[in-house]
Amino acid sequence: MLFLCPKCKNKLVEKDGCAICREGHSYDRAKGGYYNLLLGSSGGVHGDNKDMVLARREFLAFGFYSPLAEKLSSLVLQYTNECCVLLDAGSGEGYYTDFVERALHERDADTNVLAFDISKDAVRELAKKNKRISAVVAGSYHIPLPDGSVDTVINTFSPLALDETRRVLKSGGRFIMAIPGEEHLYELKAKIYDTPYKNTVADTAIRGFKLISDESLTYIMHLNSREAVSSLFMMTPYAYRTSPENKARLAGLDSLECTADFRLFVYEKI
Ligand SMILES: [Zn+2]
Repeated sequence: MLFLCPKCKNKLVEKDGCAICREGHSYDRAKGGYYNLLLGSSGGVHGDNKDMVLARREFLAFGFYSPLAEKLSSLVLQYTNECCVLLDAGSGEGYYTDFVERALHERDADTNVLAFDISKDAVRELAKKNKRISAVVAGSYHIPLPDGSVDTVINTFSPLALDETRRVLKSGGRFIMAIPGEEHLYELKAKIYDTPYKNTVADTAIRGFKLISDESLTYIMHLNSREAVSSLFMMTPYAYRTSPENKARLAGLDSLECTADFRLFVYEKI
């Protein structure tokens, strides 16, 4: 296994349902088939809680973001070599990781896809979804992987720890990132806010990387049931920031035409 002991940074070896380092630190393999490598995580919930994970799973199951998953997969195929090691940094429940892994696996069965997320509930979902992905619970500021061990890192809407991302990449490695574009979910925001705002896309230059591709993906989602509208709302950050009065505006809505707008960047480590 490629993962390192989070305590002493030595290599972990799988043995008898555990991952053990040479210092004797040992991590039990969870029933779902993943390891928890987040130190001091025994109490409390980190990252997305179970309700958020469930809301996102419900929305994603409608397929409204599958064009993004397909676009991301095609960029990964285009910008990675065969037999690559790919890491999904902040994978959530692995919706995109799974898409990308299947695309890579079809091209080349020796591809090694790794993923981590700080939410145990999310990693448990991922591990259930695709057994070929090696998944661990970990945070993006302490990625339990050696320097220069990964060919490609992907990140979809996840907090980005740039120095760590760069550290684990090989020289010339690729970093593929998807973020919400300016128009993303504008109609949803227009329903709940008096003065909806557009997203701002920050400067695309990042230190230590060269931008080699910048694409947009924009389409209209036809949310045609109350469940679809509410599951979209529940998985956005707005669900936690919107007043009950404004939420009520959405409650009776049976349909919504809403823009999905994404930017996808490919960077090369320099
Ligand atoms: Zn150790």
